[in-house]
Amino acid sequence: EVGLEQADKTVDSVCPYCGVGCLLTYHVKDNKILYVTGRDGPANHGRLCVKGRYGFDYVHHRQRLTKPLIRKPGVPKSADFVVDPEHWQEVFREATWEEALDLAAGKLRQIRDTHGKHALAGFGSAKGSNEEAYLFQKLVRTGFGSNNVDHCTRLCHASSVAALLEGIGSGAVSNQVSDVMKAEVVLVIGANPTVNHPVAATWIKNAAKRGVKLIVADPRRTELARYATYFLQFKPDTDVALLNAMMYTIVEEGLVNEDFIRQRTEGFEALKENVKGYSPEKMAPICGIPAETIREVARLYAKSKGSMILWGMGISQHVHGTDNARCLIALALMTGQVGRPGTGLHPLRGQNNVQGASDSGLIPMVFPDYQRVDDPQARARFEKLWGTSLDPKPGLTVVEIMNAILDGQIKGMYIMGENPAMSDPDLRHAREALAKLDWLVVQDIFLTETAYLADVVLPASAWPEKTGTVTNTDRMVQLGRRALDLPGDARQDLWIIQEMARRLGLDWHYEGPESGVQAVFEEMRKAMPSIAGITWERLERESSVTYPCEKEGDPGQPVVFTERFPTKTGRGRFVPADLVPAAERPDDEYPWVLITGRQLEHWHTGAMTRRASVLDAIEPEPVASLHPLDLDVLGVKPGEVITVETRRGRISLFTRAEESTPRGAVFIPFCFYEAAANLLTNPALDPYGKIPEFKYCAAKVLRGGEP
Ligand code: SF4
Repeated sequence: EVGLEQADKTVDSVCPYCGVGCLLTYHVKDNKILYVTGRDGPANHGRLCVKGRYGFDYVHHRQRLTKPLIRKPGVPKSADFVVDPEHWQEVFREATWEEALDLAAGKLRQIRDTHGKHALAGFGSAKGSNEEAYLFQKLVRTGFGSNNVDHCTRLCHASSVAALLEGIGSGAVSNQVSDVMKAEVVLVIGANPTVNHPVAATWIKNAAKRGVKLIVADPRRTELARYATYFLQFKPDTDVALLNAMMYTIVEEGLVNEDFIRQRTEGFEALKENVKGYSPEKMAPICGIPAETIREVARLYAKSKGSMILWGMGISQHVHGTDNARCLIALALMTGQVGRPGTGLHPLRGQNNVQGASDSGLIPMVFPDYQRVDDPQARARFEKLWGTSLDPKPGLTVVEIMNAILDGQIKGMYIMGENPAMSDPDLRHAREALAKLDWLVVQDIFLTETAYLADVVLPASAWPEKTGTVTNTDRMVQLGRRALDLPGDARQDLWIIQEMARRLGLDWHYEGPESGVQAVFEEMRKAMPSIAGITWERLERESSVTYPCEKEGDPGQPVVFTERFPTKTGRGRFVPADLVPAAERPDDEYPWVLITGRQLEHWHTGAMTRRASVLDAIEPEPVASLHPLDLDVLGVKPGEVITVETRRGRISLFTRAEESTPRGAVFIPFCFYEAAANLLTNPALDPYGKIPEFKYCAAKVLRGGEP
């Protein structure tokens, strides 16, 4: 109430963190956010988690970038850097916008003209707006001339999307999270929504309290397990064994939905044949779940009037991530548990705009709305819209781009709002690649680990400083409104992209307030049938509109695939999956399993939340969670230091005793630069989604070390 009296304005916007997409209000005085309250948005109904409510003062942090920076001559780039944002002057000098932009774009242009269009690449951001993502991919495709553009979707749900596109023709969710209230059975697998999608978790808990049967399956005993009718703590890396055994039971006990299979699917016979080898009795010792329990949950899922599956990166971040998702899709198809309220498939999207950034075309194989770059008709449509010829060759993905730099193929990069020097697997390799670039331009709000390796750093806008749309995990396109003026000489990202484009020879005109955001959105409506019916006026009025919304006035579709799937045949496709082991299993030398993930209070690589005072006060130090009995075996007390080592690196950090962590495993969040978990992770890729195996590699754990 004190704050309410002090605020001189309120601005309605969207939370900048996770994919739940909670609507909120900034309470502002003298260009400072005093506090944040939740709004009655369709995804949150007034609720906010600790990040949304308290994680806002990073925007006012003293380390915000406020001037363009140019690397000083002779300052070497090295993978062994220690980031020190307080002493940036040792590495960079300040510059005017004119000088920085001319240099940043001029060198990229020079590389393109000398070494060809495939010598450049760009990473866009899932933290910015749809309009920024759209313009960024358009800059790469029309200014650089290739499809070498990607973003962090590659690191979170690329395998889920690969399986969904192959199986049901669309990478987006079939139903919204709130549909859990209409379900009879909810299966949450490989996800920890209490930590990563906290407000979504509250709906799941509410549903369970109202009698919905909740099945939680995860190698870690997550907090959500407390609400579960069945909690299956299966062994890490055995998802396909568990899911195939469930399907075996459904087939054997005649619980398949034959009408649905006949009318709406194809390929069932091959799947049926494949699961014959996966009886629960045979799989029980592999996945660690008793055969009868597997049978019980299979029956529960198959027989209910409405069963819904939600999954996270425990499913996707494996070399068999696509296979894991294929099994979930097959489960839903064989039982007809999709296409109605309270059923369906929901990959919980991570960042606030990872759905929208993917929809907007920040993906190397597809234009906006997942239209393939190697499809001549799709390419012709975009060539007409953008007035230029386009490269038919799919571009490289995140990890492939790092490899291509080390191979000497890629020489220049433009990175907007991403931090691969913290988020990529095998960081040493990624940092060596970034350091090797002839030219690196980074656009961000802080001097991140990636920006530290840049030649030019362009100071950008934080979310409360801009107007634009973002799309949440439920396919809701939501409007964020500008609440603050920019600090110092920082600029709108949309303005920066357009200035870079102009210097790359592109003749763009997006007129209007907020760097032409509405004009960009209007072009997106032409490029993307899924949002063609959403008008800016409606967004201003309603704040949130669900796609598909193809014609003006369409209400939007919370449930899709009701009558057909958007595949060529209109049918869903079964794709059988077999057991594929993790790329690196424990052995005598590295006997532990390393699992990485996130904490409730910190977001992604921590660039924002570790500068949010309340969040950083709650979780200030790097920690590794181990089972208390494993700590006993090691002779280490909670709070003492351990060193975790893999074949790629070693870090030292504090221990935390958590019974949720399975025996023999160590869990480390990847947000701490002092002990970067990704120095340890394995860059082995899922062959379809090209996603790295963040959730499993072999490690050794030693007492002591220096955190
Ligand atoms: Fe923000 Fe996600 Fe928390 Fe909602 S649940 S307040 S969107 S971080």
